[in-house]
Amino acid sequence: MTDQVRVRFAPSPTGDLHVGGARTALFNWLFARQHGGAFILRIEDTDQARLVGQSIAGIIESLRWLGLHWDEGPDVGGPYGPYVQSQRLHLYREHAQRLVLAGHAYYCFCTPERLERVRQEQRARSEPPGYDRHCRYLPEAEVEERLARGEPAVIRFKMPLEGETTIVDLLRGEITYENRLLQDLVLLKSDGFPTYHLANVVDDHYMRISHILRAEEWIPSAPLHYQLYRAFGWEMPVLCHLPLILSPDGKGKLSKRHGATGVLEFKRQGYLPEAMINYLALLGWAYDAEQEIFSLEELLEKFRLEEVNPHPARFNFEKLLWMNQYYINHILSLDDLAQRCVPLLQEAGLVPPEASDPSTPAYAYVREVVALVKDRLKLLTEVVDLTRFFFAEVEDYDPELLLARKVEPAVVLHALERVIETLREADFSDEGDLERRLRGLAEELGLKTGQLFMPIRVAVTGRTVSPGLFETLRVLGRERSLERLAAAREKLAAYLQATAGSTPSRE
Ligand code: GLU
Repeated sequence: MTDQVRVRFAPSPTGDLHVGGARTALFNWLFARQHGGAFILRIEDTDQARLVGQSIAGIIESLRWLGLHWDEGPDVGGPYGPYVQSQRLHLYREHAQRLVLAGHAYYCFCTPERLERVRQEQRARSEPPGYDRHCRYLPEAEVEERLARGEPAVIRFKMPLEGETTIVDLLRGEITYENRLLQDLVLLKSDGFPTYHLANVVDDHYMRISHILRAEEWIPSAPLHYQLYRAFGWEMPVLCHLPLILSPDGKGKLSKRHGATGVLEFKRQGYLPEAMINYLALLGWAYDAEQEIFSLEELLEKFRLEEVNPHPARFNFEKLLWMNQYYINHILSLDDLAQRCVPLLQEAGLVPPEASDPSTPAYAYVREVVALVKDRLKLLTEVVDLTRFFFAEVEDYDPELLLARKVEPAVVLHALERVIETLREADFSDEGDLERRLRGLAEELGLKTGQLFMPIRVAVTGRTVSPGLFETLRVLGRERSLERLAAAREKLAAYLQATAGSTPSRE
């Protein structure tokens, strides 16, 4: 093994990249960067039955989105490739055979039916299930003959039957297993594909991995891996198993039942990669009792793998949402935020393609609009609904929304007329001017400001809740504001006429 730190993230492409996997990738990445080492991406796709198409692309997209770039991997190559296990099958076959020759592994011809029968018998005797090592003791000549006949066989590891195996985990210290309780697990399947154990050990060795950072669920595999390294005569990398991630109530592992678990799902929902990274770092690690907000740069400075708490961490969706809002409200610059909103607004058909270019008026308008809602955004995606009326016509609204409480409808109608007259004179680039004029008008009409402002708000936004009225008017501009006010006046007039149907008409 070299002195250089070399770590790997080794996902199996069986679905979306889960937040647990992302946390593993993050800790590997941080550890590599802190030590001037290499971060490697390796795809462990030897379990053909569990492969899910497109997963590799999804995993790569997720890691890129999070900003966790790798130095060696399937797409970028590197000196120890290929980095996809299905492209390295010969290596595993050769090494399985090497173990057989050295007496550390054996061919097993047991059929699935026999294995099932053994399991049933064990169950009947209340014994723990496991392979009964039947083929471990076959005479060599019989093995040769059956192989020559082409009988299907797997290769199993010969676990020592006595003594103990002690592994050392960076966070947990020594963990000791009694060998007699361990299994002779399969290394090479009858279809020539390796199991996870063999492929993982062979690759970690040839890829010069110095530290294995992976999920806690792999601890029970570690004694087998230890014995495999010994059988090959290789040095074992340092082991570090990262704590489980539990559901918010702590009652079980985090799963889809509790909410989004895939990184790209969070992305679609409007989470920022910065907030995700920050939150993931705190799943098992803390700097001190106060600081919770960390940029990636700060994590590089402060994160310590040895300080990770081995106890399970709970996933708290509310905390993540709070963090996302914090990043949107306090950390991102206005331009950064606006540029991230542009594609969402484009997708919704609200802004033109040229808004992607920050030198265009279309972008400048998006920027102004985003400034008005920045403080209320929790998720990026919310920008679409919150700002729709700045880009498109107001949605059809109920004319009754225009009617201020405790004010006669006719008074509101008159007030709207006066608002239009007043705003015709106003300077729309000056919020102060808009405010002075409208407050003056309220006083003149003997209305409370709320009684006058609500119908204006509804007229220009189609809603009763919106960003500040004067800034909204300023950003919408004279033409659009006056048009919408005129439309509201018509709408109210028509409504009043219709509801006055029961009273006799003037003619
Ligand atoms: N392919 C394994 C997984 O998906 C990797 C475990 C390891 O890192 O050794 O979790």
